Amino acid sequence: MSDALAPGLYLVATPIGNLGDITLRALEVLKAADRIACEDTRQTQKLLNHYGITTPTISYHEHNERDRAAKLIEELKQGSRIAVVSDAGMPGISDPGSVLVREAIAAGISVIPIPGANAALSALIASGLPTDEFHFIGFLPEKAGARRTRLEAIAEQPRDTAQAVIFYEAPHRIADTLADLEAVFGPALRVVAARELTKLHEEFLRGAVAEVRTRLTERDRIRGEFVLLIELSPHTNNPGAPGLVSETWETISDQVKRLQSEHNLDEKEALKRLAREQGKSKSELYRELQRERAKRK
Ligand code: SAM
Repeated sequence: MSDALAPGLYLVATPIGNLGDITLRALEVLKAADRIACEDTRQTQKLLNHYGITTPTISYHEHNERDRAAKLIEELKQGSRIAVVSDAGMPGISDPGSVLVREAIAAGISVIPIPGANAALSALIASGLPTDEFHFIGFLPEKAGARRTRLEAIAEQPRDTAQAVIFYEAPHRIADTLADLEAVFGPALRVVAARELTKLHEEFLRGAVAEVRTRLTERDRIRGEFVLLIELSPHTNNPGAPGLVSETWETISDQVKRLQSEHNLDEKEALKRLAREQGKSKSELYRELQRERAKRK
């Protein structure tokens, strides 16, 4: 195959833990390419050594992505065969790759995917959550406020069918993210934490968010790599999610009416009281109420 490898940019998936998870075609492409552009050359070298591949490597990571892309595009225009790999899984998925792909397409260069391991899809297929429709988010923002805002935006998105939402998360942030998920979607939210996929300590923690969080935080130390999945349906209980009218939870409008009759308040006063009880601003709650009413029209 090496002589036959056509010029172009090859996006090669590499293992996410278990070195056996690489395709025959991926190995052939890595062997035959003129160069391998790697997120981390030392990391990829371990894989290449394991398979006796001696193709030269070059670094291609988030800090040199633009400059390096320009150089690689020049080589590709001369007819080179360049393979791109990330440290694990598919390049371009929460990893460098997409800049080079766009530039290659713009330059009329063939872009060839060499499929293989991916953490998000591996976790999804074994999660037990809906697979017909899913939403891949990748990493949430690191800052607490931005993370909460992002989750609230996800909660607000209309859904016709049940779907899984997939996140990548670092072990030192997983407990905080689970706490945020619980705050936004409620303690009954169905969650799967997929840990150390394809590795010796592979593990799936499935259950309500509160339960999964307790099981993890009870450990001395939370180690390993995680994919976090949640199940959202049109009927998911989303008590903290702005604008979502759920069948099983009281709507804002119902809560306001209840407070009005219980405490003999007008709507404005009831809204103020509800905002205080829920730790939200009055204007935020008012906007939610308006959205809820608009949806019912
Ligand atoms: N490009 C990769 C892919 O296709 O899956 C993802 C790269 S992203 C920088 C790394 C994140 O993917 C990790 O922080 C973790 O959330 C997830 N991940 C990677 N390998 C994993 C594994 N073996 N088990 C669980 N999660 C993993």
